[in-house]
This record gives sequence, structure tokens and C-alpha cells, in this order.
Amino acid sequence: MKNILITGGAGFIGANFIHRILDKDEDVNIINLDKLTYAGDTERLKTLEGNERYKFIKGDITNKRDVYDAFSSEIDTVVHFAAESHVDRSIEDAEPFEATNVRGTMMLLEAARKQGINRFVHISTDEVYGELGEDGFFTEATPFAPNSPYSASKASGDLFVQAYRHTYGLDTVTLRPSNNYGPWQYPEKLIPVVINHALDDLPVPVYGEGLNVREWLFVEDCADGIMQAMGKGKSGEAYNIGSGHERRNIDVVKGILALLDKPESLINYVDDRLGHDFRYSLDSSKIKTETGWQAETGFEQGLEKTVKWYLDNQPWWRKFLKY
Ligand code: NAD
Repeated sequence: MKNILITGGAGFIGANFIHRILDKDEDVNIINLDKLTYAGDTERLKTLEGNERYKFIKGDITNKRDVYDAFSSEIDTVVHFAAESHVDRSIEDAEPFEATNVRGTMMLLEAARKQGINRFVHISTDEVYGELGEDGFFTEATPFAPNSPYSASKASGDLFVQAYRHTYGLDTVTLRPSNNYGPWQYPEKLIPVVINHALDDLPVPVYGEGLNVREWLFVEDCADGIMQAMGKGKSGEAYNIGSGHERRNIDVVKGILALLDKPESLINYVDDRLGHDFRYSLDSSKIKTETGWQAETGFEQGLEKTVKWYLDNQPWWRKFLKY
């Protein structure tokens, strides 16, 4: 049996990853270390209660004792999702982003090298590369140019991973996913915000003119890509993970309104986010060539699944709403 320490596994992508790896690989045990911030919720993992291959530890990756307690079991691999993840919150207050995304990442790396683990899988983001205009794409060799406090903190964490690889020879693999969407996403991110406002016939906020472009990756595809890279990725390498499905925000919003049979008159253009990156787009050929992974879910198919999930699971996301 392989013991995998997941950080941030009560969050959106981490929880999806835990369900998928336990379903697909009978030879793994999961230890989930999560602080349970506003974004973490064990309800995402409720169906694993009583599963002998799953253990939850409430703890903070910026707290040395919590980190070393988690490493007290025999750990083979770390998959590090834990982060402050919302750009708007980082614009309000960058401090928790520096703490968790930079210092927390460094503390995990330090524990990982001291414990002599086999592989450290780091979940970074496409936002470390900065923004693009109408054309072009980011490769793994694109220099970092982060623009928000969130992306600056993620770029720092990513650089610490590179430093631990270079300095100590730690076996690392870094993933840089594009925008994820799907079931269980906290209702502050674009797609769930649009769904819940539209369902309640409230004005749907859209930044600026809604022309910003994102590459939308269904969360199960992302989890599968991480699993592939964990097993087949080359030590010390970084891999972009994107779907190739680029959409303008306004088209995503209109697509959701159409699925819910709601009028476009609900759209409410609001002041743009400060320093809002215009476009991200990934060249994901490296992960495809080296691991055989590719996104399976078309955007319209993934959006339909997501909208249906939010319709069927209203008690879960309604408990977070502030209105
Ligand atoms: P999320 O905000 O849904 O979940 C983050 C989880 O980390 C939560 O469960 C939270 O409780 C936990 N956490 C936060 N601070 C912690 C700390 N100090 N100690 C322990 N646990 C802590 O995030 P997500 O959307 O699931 O993203 C997961 C990872 O993927 C992050 O590293 C994020 O930067 C990256 N990423 C996300 C996206 C996306 O579109 N969601 C895209 C690219 C990369």
C-alpha cells in the first residue's frame, strides 16, 4: 500500500481528487491534512466516513507541529493542494495568501525532505505566467509574471518547490492547471456565483464587459491529470494542465442562463476587478505526450453536468450564501 498525504483535501479540487484516486487505485491510503478554512468542508468527503483507506487530520500547514504530526505516519507521496485560492480575497487582504501559499508550502517541503518522502506533487496554477493578449499561449518555459497577490503567492510557492528540487534533490512534480469548474466548488467563483444568482433571479455580476478569457477545465479531468503526472511525470518537471476550451466570461454566463432558462437581462456589469488578467491559455502538449492524459469533458457537457449538480445539491451551497 502507498500512503499519500493530501493537503487541502477538503477543498474543491482536493476532494474531487481524493474520491477519484480512492475509486481508481485500490493500493493507496489517503491522509488528508486540512485547516478547514471558510473554503474547506468535510461534507465533500462525507461518503468516505468509515472508509479504512481514508483518514482526516484537521491541521494548518503553517503550523510546524501540525505538519510534523501529519508526517508521523509513513508517507510515500505528498499532493499539495492547500491554498488560499480566491483572487478577489487576495486583493482585499494578501496576508493569508503569503502565509499559506508561500510559508505553508515551504514548511511542507522542509518536512518532506527531512522525512525522505518519494515524491512531492505541487499544485500551482496557470496564473503564475501572468496574462496574455488575444493570441499566444503559455508553455512550461514561459517566465513567471504574476499580477495579483494570489498569483504572486502561488508563483513564490512554485519557486520554492523548484529550489528544493535543485538544492536538496527532492523528487518534485508541479502541475499548473487552468480554471477548474464542476461539482462542489465554493460559491464565490464565477460559475457557481452565476448559477446561484440566476436561480434566485438576482442580478448576475459580471466584471467589466465580460470579455476576459479563461480556459475551463472540468475538475474530474484535472484530478485525472494530477494522478497521471504523479505516477508518470518526470522528477523536477512542471506540467500545464488545460482543456483547450477557451471561453469569454460573458459567454460562460450566457450559457448558464440558457441552461437555467433565465433571461440575459439578469446580467449586471460591475466595475472590473483591479488588475484583472485579460486571458490565460495553456499549451498542454507536454503532459499529453509524457503521461498520455488529455481532458475528456467538452465544455458544454461539463457545464451541463455542473448546473445539474448545483440544482440537485442546493442545501450544500445555500449554507454559504450571504444574501
Ligand atoms: P479551495 O479554496 O476550494 O480549497 C483550498 C483548501 O485548502 C480548503 O479545504 C482549505 O481549508 C485548505 N487550506 C487553506 N489554507 C490551509 C492551511 N493553512 N492549512 C491547511 N489547509 C488549508 O481551492 P481549490 O479550488 O480546490 O484549489 C486547490 C489548489 O489548486 C490550490 O492550490 C489552487 O491554487 C490550485 N488551483 C486552483 C484552480 C481553480 O480553478 N480552482 C486552478 C488552478 C490551480
